[in-house]
Formats: sequence, structure tokens, C-alpha cells
Amino acid sequence: MNTETTHSANVFESAIQRLDLAAKHLTVAPETVERLKRPKALLEVSIPVRMDDGSLRVFTGYRCRHDDTRGPAKGGIRFHPNVSRAEVQALAFWMTCKCACVGIPFGGGKGGVIVNPKELSHLELERLSRGYMQQVADFVGPDTDVPAPDVYTNATVMGWMMDEYSKIVRKRTPGVITGKPIPLGGSLGRDDATGRGAYYCIKEIEKRRNWDPKTIRVAVQGFGNAGQSVVRLLHQDGYKIVAVSDSRGGIHSDDGFDVPSLIKQKNETRTLKAVYCEGSVCELIPAKSITNEELLELDVDLLLPAALENQISSANAAKIKASVIVELANGPTMLEADPILAERKLLVVPDIIANAGGVTVSYFEWAQNRAGYYWSLEEVQDKLRRIMQTEFNAIYDTMDRIKTDMRTAAYVHALGRISAALESQGTAEYFSAS
Ligand code: GLU
Repeated sequence: MNTETTHSANVFESAIQRLDLAAKHLTVAPETVERLKRPKALLEVSIPVRMDDGSLRVFTGYRCRHDDTRGPAKGGIRFHPNVSRAEVQALAFWMTCKCACVGIPFGGGKGGVIVNPKELSHLELERLSRGYMQQVADFVGPDTDVPAPDVYTNATVMGWMMDEYSKIVRKRTPGVITGKPIPLGGSLGRDDATGRGAYYCIKEIEKRRNWDPKTIRVAVQGFGNAGQSVVRLLHQDGYKIVAVSDSRGGIHSDDGFDVPSLIKQKNETRTLKAVYCEGSVCELIPAKSITNEELLELDVDLLLPAALENQISSANAAKIKASVIVELANGPTMLEADPILAERKLLVVPDIIANAGGVTVSYFEWAQNRAGYYWSLEEVQDKLRRIMQTEFNAIYDTMDRIKTDMRTAAYVHALGRISAALESQGTAEYFSAS
């Protein structure tokens, strides 16, 4: 087994270990925990795609349904070169926990294709997206498993996939996928929902810790959809965004960046440049280049990992200076790093609550598609805020009550809901009592 395979197999194995840690704090049947350690179904497919130069490439794709006891499986589709079977399983498991954490009626699923989409033309990307849906169409559906965007997929990709599925089943079916373009049945407010959900969590911390935003220095690792949205909102409230990175590296400035100009630059040129724009005039401002690893260890107050898994490990956990970490990425902290962060009294808001805003608005989108009745942006954001506030505070209170870290508290919160659903169908104790 090469290191990459070992590493990716570990992603799922480590992910499920958090169940055992949570199970110690609540009454849950051992069979419930065992059941959740095994995904319900996993599909591996080959997707032949005709490339623009006439050649044929065959891509490998996956869809995993981890659990669907509380409702149809729900979770994104990732297009990334490092996608693996174990990664998709881990991501699907986190979705089960995430949906239970915020109390929405879904289980967990995830999909992925091993591909670097940045190397594809738009036409190749469309053929791949439609090809993926052709291969998984029997496995997904509005009542069984509902995909959405994830790393390097977006609304356009969702629109193609919805269209392809509708053609296959010969019925317009917007509820098969969420995160679609608005004119194709997408929900208002889905685009920035992941970042906004995390922002609502941070606002609760602000209240609990009496933070003055102007004095809070923020570093964000990853400048995709979630990273951009959360710092845009924080910047509007006066938070100082002092470091930002993307897959190629980062920039740091003690004075803080003008976030709207960073976003504009990044989206127009695909590069991170420290600019300040006023009116139509933009000028470069001084900033230091840093690596993604250095960003994590900067002297900041709030650290936002918003990129990929396994960024915070036992090698760097002791060097993190931020007092609060809010996980916008899925699985950015390795299992082995948790006790080190807890020992140092860092508050880590775990992924399964911190980034749950995206799937929450996906739920709203699915509900709107099924009702054929669409909500205003205010309604979407108001409902999202209420859910995030309620669930964040419930988890925080659980953390204080059972005297543990916030991740364990979030798993306890989620496992309580999942076990209630599973166990209402009977457990060994029930069936052996007759
Ligand atoms: N991919 C996102 C996540 O990891 C969104 C999932 C969804 O909207 O279904 O939470």
C-alpha cells in the first residue's frame, strides 16, 4: 500500500472514531454506533468522456450513501484529483452527522470524481458532469439521495446534472439536486450559505466572549465559495482579515485587507493579490507572501480553515496561536490534533456545525422545489440564522454540561438525533425482551 492509499483509507477510519468518543456521553445502543461505522451503499463508476481533441478519457467517480434513516441521503459532489473511495465515505459520514446536528430531515451522502477540473474546457466539464449523472442516476433521486456542490463544482455543474437527470427520467425533477442556478430552481441565498452559516456561529461567539470586531484578527485558509463568503461578512462588521490563502499560497498583512477587492481580483484573475480599490482605481498594497502551513500558525485570534481535510495535525496543533478555530472545510483537523487543541483550551467549532449552513439552505431549496413555491432572500436568511443560532447554542451548552470539547459535544448532539431515529425501530434490548 503506498502512502497515499494508507492516508486516504485513514480518513474514513479516523472519522468514525469520533462516534465512540461521543457515545461515552449519552445512552446509545452499541448496535447504533456499529451501524454508523459502515456506509449503507457505495457506488463506483467509470465515466467515459470525449475530449475536445478527439481522444477518450475514462474518469473514476463515486457516490456513497452513508445513512438515510432520518431522510434521503444528502451531500455534495467533489471534482478533485485527490478524491478517493475512503474520502468520499468520510465526507458522507460527516454529512449524516451534519444534517443531524442542525436537525434537518436528511441522512448523509457524498460523491466525487477523480479529476482536476481546472484542466478541462467548459465543454469537457459539461460532458463529464452529464456523464457522471448518467452513471449514478439509478442511485440518486429526490427521495433517495440528493447531491449538491462541493469542492470545485458549482451551480452550473448542478444545472447540467439536474437537466441530465430530468432527461433520463423524462420528468423535470429540480429536487434531485441542490445548489442549482436560480433560474433553474435554485434557492436565493444558497450561494453564500456555507460562509453565512459559519458567520452566524462567529456572531454567537462574539456575544459570548464580548469581542470587539475591530480588535479581532482573522486568517482564512482557502478562498473558494465558503472562505470568500465568511470573510466578506466579517469584514463588513469590522473584523480585520490579515491573512488569506488559496491552493497556490497566501498573503499576510498586519493592517488587514480590503476583502471586496481581494474577492474581485481572485475571481477575475484567479490569483490572490493584495489590492485596495477605491472607486475604479485599484492599487497594490504591501503584503508578505506566506505558505498555507505558515498561515495556520500566524498570530491571529480567529482561524478559519476553509480548504481541504487534514490541515491541522499533531505536528502543528501546538503551534496554532488563534484562540478560536471555526472549521469551514470538512475534516480540516485530524483526530490526533483534537486532544492537543483541547488541552490548550482552544475553542474549535467543528465542521459538522460550522459549515452546516450550506446543506441547511440546500434543504430549503429541496423543500421549495417540491412545493413549487419560492421564498424571498430575507426568508431564507432569517430561517438559516435561527437554525444556526439555536443549534450552535445547544451544542455550546452541551459542551459546558458534559465538560468536553465542542467537537465531542456536536457529535453527542447529532448522535442523539440519529440514534433516536434508528432506535425507534427497535434495538437488541427491545427484541430480546419479549
Ligand atoms: N458540500 C456541502 C457540504 O459539505 C453542501 C452539501 C449540500 O448542500 O448538500 O456541506
